[in-house]
Amino acid sequence: MNDLAANTKILIVDDKPLNIEVLSETIEDLGDILFATNGQAAIDLCIEQQPNLVLLDVMMPEMDGYEVCEKLKALPETKEIPVIFATALSDENDEAKGFEIGAIDYVTKPISAPIVIARVRNHLELKRYRDYLEQIAFIDGLTAIPNRRRFDEHFQSEWQRGVRHEAFLAVLMIDIDFFKPFNDHYGHQAGDDCLVKVAQALASSVHRPGDLVARYGGEEFVCVLPDTDLAGAEITANTLRKSVNALKVPHEFSNVTDHVTVSIGAAAVKLKQSMKPEELVKKADNNLYEAKESGRDRMVAA
Ligand code: GH3
Ligand code: MG
Ligand code: MG
Repeated sequence: MNDLAANTKILIVDDKPLNIEVLSETIEDLGDILFATNGQAAIDLCIEQQPNLVLLDVMMPEMDGYEVCEKLKALPETKEIPVIFATALSDENDEAKGFEIGAIDYVTKPISAPIVIARVRNHLELKRYRDYLEQIAFIDGLTAIPNRRRFDEHFQSEWQRGVRHEAFLAVLMIDIDFFKPFNDHYGHQAGDDCLVKVAQALASSVHRPGDLVARYGGEEFVCVLPDTDLAGAEITANTLRKSVNALKVPHEFSNVTDHVTVSIGAAAVKLKQSMKPEELVKKADNNLYEAKESGRDRMVAA
């Protein structure tokens, strides 16, 4: 088994153990094989194990393959898992039905080993590529931390989750001080290197699940802190600010000190249905403006 296959899980679902045995021997080189002998067990395994691919029997007692597939496609945590039907039915209508409810391909039983291997291998490769594209779509190309799009998505989902639990949510807006003179004097390449260092320092300073630092644009960053009130936001803001100070990236043309610094605006709310997410960002942004006006290299949380 190669490296790719070692990180690959394939779930085989069939009510007849003998069929599972035959299929798993056929594709054992393509990944770790998981199996289930009924629909509910298959769904539970998908949620728990997140297999890269499912080979799904159509004819099963209780829940048939179509119903399993429909349920997988309806759950956010399993809808991206590709499903290949393994069907003894060679009726065209049955194949069409499988595609309609979200299957990506089918193989017919009795299986032909080379065809099953080729189809499974192709779909695993496509899935890997889709996962890769999805991943890079949310990463900033320069700094390799999450980008604005990822922030938007994460902020919305934390907001909605927070509203359900009437939880606190905090946002920090972070901006590098005197970055234009930095670029002007040290050059754009040095500016880029500095952005990478600052981004990495900020991103590695938050640790709780749900915490996120993203590049908001240019030399601005944003930090989302779920379940965090204003006091907590202030503490984190200062941690972030100190992490950038600690880099000691020389900046002779800063008016505050001899190295690169950031200013941070913090805001937090106890979430309610009636509030708007933009307002929290706006408040943090206003506080960032205050931090700049009152001297930079500081945090304002008012
Ligand atoms: P302030 O202290 O008020 O924040 O001043 P500033 O100079 O940091 O702010 P300003 O908004 O005037 O300038 C931001 C500069 O950031 C402008 C631009 O040259 C630089 N910048 C933005 N994005 C990038 C980037 O991707 N790479 C580099 N090298 N520079 C960037
Ligand atoms: Mg700036
Ligand atoms: Mg700016």
